[in-house]
Formats: sequence, structure tokens, C-alpha cells
Amino acid sequence: MTLFDNALKQFHKSLKFLEFSDDAVKIMSQPKEIIQASIPIRKDDGSLEVFTGFRVHHNDVLGPTKGGIRFHPDVSLDEVQSLAFWMTFKCACVGIPFGGGKGGVIVDPKKLSRQELERLSRGYVRAVYDFIGPDQDIPAPDIYTNEMIMGWMADEYSKMSRKLTPAVITGKPVMLGGSKGRDVATAKGAYYVIKEYVKKAKLKEKGMRVAVQGFGNAGYHIARFLHDDGYKIVALSDSKGGIYSKKGLDPVAVMEGKQGKGEMEGVYCQDSVCKVIPHDKITNEELLELECDLLIPSAIENQLTKNNAATIKAKLVCEIANGPTTPEADDILHDRKITVIPDILANAGGVTVSYFEWVQNRAGYYWTEEEVFDKLKPIMVKAFAEVYDTMKDLKIDMRTAAYVVASKRIIEAIETKGTKAYFRQ
Ligand code: GLU
Repeated sequence: MTLFDNALKQFHKSLKFLEFSDDAVKIMSQPKEIIQASIPIRKDDGSLEVFTGFRVHHNDVLGPTKGGIRFHPDVSLDEVQSLAFWMTFKCACVGIPFGGGKGGVIVDPKKLSRQELERLSRGYVRAVYDFIGPDQDIPAPDIYTNEMIMGWMADEYSKMSRKLTPAVITGKPVMLGGSKGRDVATAKGAYYVIKEYVKKAKLKEKGMRVAVQGFGNAGYHIARFLHDDGYKIVALSDSKGGIYSKKGLDPVAVMEGKQGKGEMEGVYCQDSVCKVIPHDKITNEELLELECDLLIPSAIENQLTKNNAATIKAKLVCEIANGPTTPEADDILHDRKITVIPDILANAGGVTVSYFEWVQNRAGYYWTEEEVFDKLKPIMVKAFAEVYDTMKDLKIDMRTAAYVVASKRIIEAIETKGTKAYFRQ
């Protein structure tokens, strides 16, 4: 079973609640275009290394394809295709005018110098140059890529096209046309959605025990936002493992400690006094099964599987990672009445602010951070309400409801256009 098979299963589950033609389903069931490229890079020691990169356009019926670029040793075509597929549904779920795309390079960026990383980033753009563009396909950051890399990539594209083209890539540094608020947008979107769910389910926020797997951009900021609201962050982890404290952790202090020492330590702050407190070292697997109220997978795919779904103790799961739950695990969690706020809704804040960045670049008119969040919040709140109401009306799990909402838009667009027009014959 490939990751793409799992992704397709999620979509297919929504079909029995929709009216559709086979044509639309056939079109959605495979990516529109794939590019694979070899990217030769001169290393600092003079040797040459050739990296493999991918860019996939899954579907562009609702707009140019959109999605991040991942730099990770485990990147594969199957993974990039699946991530592109999820981007199509994510953009449709929150109603922004983009299709789905994704890119990746098989590389461990931690082993590259800054100069090597720059050469690789620019080399990637040269390889996919004809495949991307502001009206065609717009990349962004993903795991182990960041605003610095987006800045290099946008610069390389502008040099090649001999035109300043900031709208080709989002997630750039603010000085180079990035949007204010893009760095925290994924977590902000998840935060708005969690708050809406908490209201609906009438949960008590103060002291709600939260475990966050993944301490990257999204995982760190969601822990911080919830901590500020009185949630108790009992566990955090990064790729090396995690920490647990019954008393609660202060995510900002843990991040400062991690940046200083290179590893996570349990830090608890009372007012302005922070100290390292006794904490248990746990593995990433243990974190998922901890005693807590809200579990937030914020790292990679396939974390909640048939092997651990029966022992998850949280009553609520909010997926900030893409694809952290397998279809088998979904069924088990649903039977156990554990609510899963699905990735295509929960983590859509990132791509929504990427959309704002693209709009600002094209208009040449830039918004304050406050304006960005004032525009993000209603989009997330509305998408949540649509998904929640669909879930209640059809008595289905929230993921399937999110696919119903998204698929309706995609299928309608495909059918309105007609398959003939779709293939530009
Ligand atoms: N990589 C992010 C995601 O998976 C952001 C994509 C974007 O901003 O285009 O949603």
C-alpha cells in the first residue's frame, strides 16, 4: 500500500456522499504532470554530488498549482505525489483559488554547508524552471526548507526570466516580498480551528493537556499559542525524541534551550523565572500514546497507524502534519469516538497566507500583520463551520466531511469546464 493509495482512499470515502461523474474521479486519481530531475551540485571540497528532485502538479482546475518543497532524505515520488494530492484538497477545502502541487529533493540538508544549500536551491529552480511560474505553479516552504531558501529560489527564477518575479514563490523573507505573518500562519490557522472545535464541543481550555509531535515551525508556534491561552503543554518532541512533564512545559523556553544546547530540555516558567525541571525523556512513538487531551502530530506522515490507534489516549487529534494518520487508524479512532481535525483543514493556514503573499506580490501593495490575520481568521472559521456542519449532517468523521466540502468544489469545476477543455485539446 503506497502513501498515494492511502490518500486516494480518503477521497474515495467522500464519494458516496456526492454526485459526480466518473470522469472527474478519473482525473483526480492521478497527478496531472510530474517532473523528475538530477541536480548536480559542486560541494565545498570540490567534489560533485548529484541530487534527485521532483515537482508534481496534481490538479489545477481551481487555479495554478500550489505547494511546498521538501528537502529530506526520505523524499520519494510517492510522497511528493501524495503531498500534491493533499494540497489540491486543502486549497479547495478552505476555498482559495489554487490547485495542488508539491516538490521535494532527496537530501539531508543538515549535512550541507550554507553555500551548498544555496547551490542546491538555485539548481532546483533551474531544473524545474519551465514547470513553475506565478500563473502555473507556485512553490513554498515545507519540511527543512525555509524563507532563506525561498529567497534564493525566487531570486534564481527572477534572474533566469530577467524580470523581478516575487509571485513565483511564497514564504520568502519579508524584505524580499514575503508576507507578514507567513512564518506563523500554519500554526495560526490550526489555532483558530482548535478554538472553534473547543467552542462547539464545550471543552474546558484551561489546563487542557496537549502533546505536540514535531518542534519545527508549525509545532513550535502552535505549542506557544496554546500555552499562552492556558493549555498545559505536557510533551514536545523533535526528530531526535521528546520530553514529557506532567507539570507542563514552556515552549518558548524549551526552544531557547534547544537553540543553545542543541537538544530539548524540560523548562517550566513561573512569571519571568524559568528553570529546568525534572522531565522524562520519551520517544516520538511514546509521545503519541501519552495521557493527554489533545494530540497534535506536527511532523511527518504515517504516525497514527493500525499499530497504535487503539492505544491513543487523547480524545482530540489535530493534524498539523500532512498525512499523519493512515486510513486503518482513521477507522479505529472513529470507532473509539476520537475526533480527528484533518490535515487538509487544520494546516491550511499556511497555504492561505501563501495565497495572500501571492496577491500582495501581484498587487505590489503590502498588508500589516494585523490585516493578514484579520483576513485569515474568517477563512479558517468559515471552512471549519462548513466541515463541521457537513460532519454533523451526514454523520461522518471530520476528514470525510472535509473531503466532501473540497470535492464538491473540485468536481463542480471539472464538470463545468468539461474534460475536453480540461485537457486543452
Ligand atoms: N508546505 C505547506 C503545506 O503543506 C505550505 C504550502 C504553501 O504555502 O504553498 O501546506
